[in-house]
Amino acid sequence: MLTQTRNVEEKLYFNRFVVDAGRPHITVRPHERPSAELRSLTHMCPAGCYSQNEAGQVEIATDGCLECGTCRIVTARTGEVEWNYPRGGFGILYKFG
Ligand code: SF4
Repeated sequence: MLTQTRNVEEKLYFNRFVVDAGRPHITVRPHERPSAELRSLTHMCPAGCYSQNEAGQVEIATDGCLECGTCRIVTARTGEVEWNYPRGGFGILYKFG
């Protein structure tokens, strides 16, 4: 029996994402200065959805979100992230589970 192994990056490449244009399923609430938890998402999000703009505020682009829930858990105390699943038919389509 032939077994094929792939690393995580190769598996992620095969996933597809259906963008719900204009209706992001995760938003960052308006803020002057982000908490340490929110800032940490610029390094922690496995899909690289979070970034920090020139004013120091944290932004999100949900294209490619893996729906892992990390950002929801990390900011549970601060409430800086509004988190929902995408609408039916949108979001991540996993090919390798
Ligand atoms: S749910 Fe996971 S992949 Fe999606 S934005 Fe949050 S941390 Fe990133």
